[in-house]
Amino acid sequence: MATDTPTITADTARHVLWGYGSEGGAEPGTFTKHVMAAISSADVANRAILSRAYPGLYMAIQIARSDPDGIAKLQRIAAGQTGPLSCHCGDFAGPFDLQGRCETCVEAAA
Ligand SMILES: [Zn+2]
Repeated sequence: MATDTPTITADTARHVLWGYGSEGGAEPGTFTKHVMAAISSADVANRAILSRAYPGLYMAIQIARSDPDGIAKLQRIAAGQTGPLSCHCGDFAGPFDLQGRCETCVEAAA
């Protein structure tokens, strides 16, 4: 997964923000609502299937759930600001430089 980061579109970010009742959200269609509910309630095996079928939506929900700054990140994507979302080391917290490196990796490279 680290080698193939899915793209989260502005629409997907808005839909997930809506799902979390956050500012910048937009209500998706009925099908997307069902997929979001399915991802949120899936067990491990079904989550793997859904992550392959809906990689952007899956990633956006993961960010919203597990990243303390996730909602803010989705709001940036929804606003059309598509900066790096994570570092190659697996850090999701940021901030990141323009090469997508976290502060720890920037310091390690200096
Ligand atoms: Zn890093």
